[in-house]
Amino acid sequence: MKNIILIAPPAAGKGTQSELLVKKYGYVHISMGDLLREESTKDTELGNEIKRLIAEGTLVNDDLTIELIRKKLNSIKGQHFCLDGFPRTIYQAHEFAKVLEELGNPDYIVLYLDLSKDAAYARINGRLICSCGKSYNIYDENLKPKVAGICDKCGKELVKRSDDNAESFKVRYETVLNNFADIKKFYQEQGKLETVNVERDVMEIFHDIEKVIVDD
Ligand SMILES: [Zn+2]
Repeated sequence: MKNIILIAPPAAGKGTQSELLVKKYGYVHISMGDLLREESTKDTELGNEIKRLIAEGTLVNDDLTIELIRKKLNSIKGQHFCLDGFPRTIYQAHEFAKVLEELGNPDYIVLYLDLSKDAAYARINGRLICSCGKSYNIYDENLKPKVAGICDKCGKELVKRSDDNAESFKVRYETVLNNFADIKKFYQEQGKLETVNVERDVMEIFHDIEKVIVDD
């Protein structure tokens, strides 16, 4: 089984696919956002640095991000990982190649979850989230809550994400795609990139992903 680097624009269903991969194949899901939050609660040099940067409103820099990934991957050595939210810049991608080398070059595939801007917006528009972290979409049969407006998992009331409006969405989407262009090219040149069309049923997408993560 291959390790996975998930690259996806907003609303591509990254969370849902990660969840399926964890459940069926036991991947360790590593979300950069979670790692940063987790580390910032620790009283370590790294934790305090992240806390300081977050308090200042500064973006956490590339080297720090790479350090976090290195630490995490070393701590789960031997297990398969599914990386989400990293690399975000071409510099991170280059540095990450060195981390993988240190780890003995584990086999991996880069999955790019592809959907059009219009499809992405339609999803964003129907997206509801719960404070427990679970997200839903009223326009998607597979992602609808069982009871309208209520979280299946914890029963709390669902809310719309505050930045889920057309204008901020377009800005976010285009910025993200611009950043991805170089990263995708980098992995494509190494024959590591697999593009998956995600404007389809969740399980159809998952089956396609399954085909490429299995070792030849
Ligand atoms: Zn919930």
